[in-house]
Amino acid sequence: MKEAYLYEKLDEKKVRCRLCGHGCLIKDGSKGICGVRENRGGTLTTLVYGKVIAMNVDPIEKKPLFHFLPGSRAYSIATVGCNFRCRFCQNSDISQMPADYNRIMGEDVSPSNIIKKARETRSSTIAYTYTEPTIYFEFALDTARLASREGIRNIFVSNGYMTEECLMNIHPDLHGINIDLKAFSEKFYKEQCGARLAPVLNSIKKARDLGVWVEVTTLLIPGLNDSDGELRDIARFLAGVDPEIPWHISRFHPTYLLTGISHTPEEDIHRARDIGYDAGIKYVYTGNLPGDDGEKTFCHGCGNLLVDRYGYSIRNNFIKNGRCPQCDEKIPGVWE
Ligand code: SF4
Repeated sequence: MKEAYLYEKLDEKKVRCRLCGHGCLIKDGSKGICGVRENRGGTLTTLVYGKVIAMNVDPIEKKPLFHFLPGSRAYSIATVGCNFRCRFCQNSDISQMPADYNRIMGEDVSPSNIIKKARETRSSTIAYTYTEPTIYFEFALDTARLASREGIRNIFVSNGYMTEECLMNIHPDLHGINIDLKAFSEKFYKEQCGARLAPVLNSIKKARDLGVWVEVTTLLIPGLNDSDGELRDIARFLAGVDPEIPWHISRFHPTYLLTGISHTPEEDIHRARDIGYDAGIKYVYTGNLPGDDGEKTFCHGCGNLLVDRYGYSIRNNFIKNGRCPQCDEKIPGVWE
């Protein structure tokens, strides 16, 4: 067990965790909402340090990050646990394991071992993904610092519920992040995720201000977050933060506790994409629609095809030195 970072000790052996927007007040012998941080005699401990439940080499497009080293490999890791309770979670078997089964599993792996595996697999990045990286922050931070020193970059795939303090601590070693903006209503965040909207909006702004490369994903769930008004709110917010933040609109598949809702109709994904462009976002993508034109990158300046994708594969990447070869428009992102 390792002592947690970012918490304070209070009276009567209570502690306050400062890692995410829940700010759990935890009594001696209890755990926080994420189920992987426990107060042991007045000391907050992480139960998942180095307990890796998933290790895979993924294309970076799967995260999705489309403007960050396209075609590169991301050595992808996770521990169990999450600070959200999304009823539509696609990885609920590991993210909700502590909550649903009161169980913590994982193979003991050290940060240096992760770096070694990333090197062996010629991965350009380490992706902290599948579950919420904030809840295994200590392991992610130690690994990320080591990776940076070794010339490997770090990316988070996150629900964006971390505190500013958490982001401030990791940002020098965090090079990219995809943040889920799951909806634009408190009702949705409360009822579907057991969380609040405001901390997520704040993280998008803060990460961008800190110079971390940010992309945003919204899973479009029929009847829950797909109205024109809500999509316009999301799009206007993102365009207001920075119109160069790519927005991924992803197709929902029934899963976990939301099996009574059907797949997102293709036309609704396209409707959302149009709303994004109308709001001024320069790069809007469709997700979980293999073969759709919305998977490709077209130059915002001249409409030229820049990156030809099919699913998670890159067929062609025409970007030269971060610019469009036809009109010389600077394409936002990390290309080298
Ligand atoms: S990470 Fe979030 S959910 Fe977990 S103990 Fe800390 S404040 Fe609570």
